[in-house]
Amino acid sequence: MAEFQERQSDLLDCLLWHEYDPCCSEPCACSPTKTRTYRCRDCFVFEPCCKDCMKASHAHAPFHHIEEWSGTCFTRCSLYSLGFELCLGHGGRRCPTAPPQQLAPLVIVHTNGVHRVRVCYCECARLPTKPIQLLRASLYPATWTLPSTAFTLQVLKHYHLDSLQSRKPAYDYWAILRGLTDNTRLSPVPDRYEELLRVSREWRVLTLFKRSGQFLGIPDFVPDQGNSVAVLCPACPRPGVNLLDGWELQVTDENRYGFPHAYHSS
Ligand SMILES: [Zn+2]
Ligand SMILES: [Zn+2]
Ligand SMILES: [Zn+2]
Repeated sequence: MAEFQERQSDLLDCLLWHEYDPCCSEPCACSPTKTRTYRCRDCFVFEPCCKDCMKASHAHAPFHHIEEWSGTCFTRCSLYSLGFELCLGHGGRRCPTAPPQQLAPLVIVHTNGVHRVRVCYCECARLPTKPIQLLRASLYPATWTLPSTAFTLQVLKHYHLDSLQSRKPAYDYWAILRGLTDNTRLSPVPDRYEELLRVSREWRVLTLFKRSGQFLGIPDFVPDQGNSVAVLCPACPRPGVNLLDGWELQVTDENRYGFPHAYHSS
């Protein structure tokens, strides 16, 4: 701690350095007529840029938090307020057959908070339904007819692990997401707590069936598992799975409770 105390002033200087960028209000790299007004808080070492560059550079990072230079400080804004569209079905590009005004607002919950996003769905022939389009983009819809909310698969995985490890209640997890979105509570954050409760349960069932091999009908995945989705102990000796060939010939009274097998071979 003595070293920290010695450097505390320098460290605070470095933190304050992030509150200003000398590039602000200079011409953007794309055009001398556009000024660098926006920066991203989530991109690594991101130079301020103009509105169009900000939208174009986030086609594959639609849930980043961005800020606008007011002339004296950075203030929070959003890709939504810049007119950003999240395009589905064409690798991040707009569907050529989608109507120009097909922009359904969607609330998307991610690990860094809650976002409002204009979604441009694919309208090509033989298109999958909107919920399936969302799922293919790693967004889990909260409803299945006209989805207005979706959770990223990353936040569902994160919440799953977090709740198992820290035993944190869903309400506290939601409070963190709300705080990451706007900890001042000056602007309303869409409340999706009830949706989190339901969708996270659906997610656990789906991952259970996926990981157990039951959904794919793999008969030899675990020979004696039957239709169970229980997680098996990989260290328990099981003939045909992790026991060495001829194991039964080597069992003695001395080693019958600590028999060397594939994971504990000596
Ligand atoms: Zn970014
Ligand atoms: Zn630009
Ligand atoms: Zn399309």
